[in-house]
Amino acid sequence: MTVTTPPRTRRVALLGSTGSIGTTALRVLERQRDRFRVTALTAFANSALLEEQAARFAPTFVGLVHNGTPHDSRWHTGRSCLIEAATRADVDIVLNAVVGAAGLDATLAALEAGKRVALANKETLVMAGDLASAAAARGGGEIVPVDSEHSAILQCIAGRPREEVRRVILTASGGPFREWAPERLASATVDDALHHPTWQMGRKITIDSATLANKALEVIEAHFLFGLPYDRIDVVVHPQSVVHSLVEFVDGSVLAQLSAPTMELPVLYALTHPERVPDTGVRPFDPVACSPLTFEPVGHDRFPALRMGVAAGRAGGVAPAVFNAANEQAVALFLERRITFNDIARAIDSALDTLAAGPAESRDAVLAADAEARRHVRSLFSC
Ligand code: NAD
Ligand code: MG
Repeated sequence: MTVTTPPRTRRVALLGSTGSIGTTALRVLERQRDRFRVTALTAFANSALLEEQAARFAPTFVGLVHNGTPHDSRWHTGRSCLIEAATRADVDIVLNAVVGAAGLDATLAALEAGKRVALANKETLVMAGDLASAAAARGGGEIVPVDSEHSAILQCIAGRPREEVRRVILTASGGPFREWAPERLASATVDDALHHPTWQMGRKITIDSATLANKALEVIEAHFLFGLPYDRIDVVVHPQSVVHSLVEFVDGSVLAQLSAPTMELPVLYALTHPERVPDTGVRPFDPVACSPLTFEPVGHDRFPALRMGVAAGRAGGVAPAVFNAANEQAVALFLERRITFNDIARAIDSALDTLAAGPAESRDAVLAADAEARRHVRSLFSC
């Protein structure tokens, strides 16, 4: 008789549980109840959704970062609750699905506390990639990417030594404005920009996908995750979002990872890596239904944010943090309908021109650059 030991249940803190990645992750975790237990949930503000999630998953910790009276007096409040959730003894994996720079401290604290960080919050690595690596080295934590492109690369590399990788090629859907003439972009509205052709996501990343700033964030993310220099990270437009990225090896062979555009797979893989598990509920892949799969060069003239972001990555120091913060601030103003679509790239350009200098040697240096970039963008538009 063979005795099979059930897999150990791993305990997950989900930061940003009410967002697009957060709700996707809870769907995945519910299906994988035998493998994972949700022990902590956090969201920015109280909501009926958070109350429902807390009732359904019965975590030992619920954190509200900002406003709203907690639904339950046992809930924790205030900015520190992200760090509290990320460092708890009853947490093995921290799924950071917070949007923007607000996720930084929780990522650093979780790595320092030896946790696996399943990282959707790419802004963290862009702002402070070296600080995150140092925190992981000190504390024994690890980062496993949730971003679909980086998950694809991780799966293709699958334990091969870095010297065998000639380059990685990140795919980009091209966003809603892929076929727009440059003159038309000047009058692109918030609603136009929120109309993503292949992915359903939160508002900030959807705007980032329309400007292609998202792809710049991802190039920098790939640089830090895989230790690759920028001239070995390329981008190609692939409108169907089925090929999630490609890895070219030194012998010229290219591997890619494919699936229908759903974040369920990369979220699950970040939790189970390097293992794969069955019963994911993901529908079988049908190459014929997906065809044709096409690839195009990036229209750099229409989407300058990509070029500027990669240049900031190459410059290093606090430049990527300035790029990220200027973009976050400009996107917020665009979503408030206070600036135009093209003003987003203008704001980034001006902030990088004026501010980008200095090493990113500490969290304080990174946060100071972040704050200065946000101030710069607000004053540029007198906001
Ligand atoms: P979202 O706006 O839908 O959700 C954000 C979550 O973070 C919410 O739960 C919100 O309550 C919380 N939050 C917002 N501001 C906060 C703050 N200041 N402090 C603490 N919590 C805060 O965003 P999303 O689309 O789920 O994206 C989350 C992250 O994942 C982003 O970094 C994004 O770039 C990345 N990502 C998203 C997708 C996607 O498909 N949505 C894909 C790849 C990567
Ligand atoms: Mg992505």
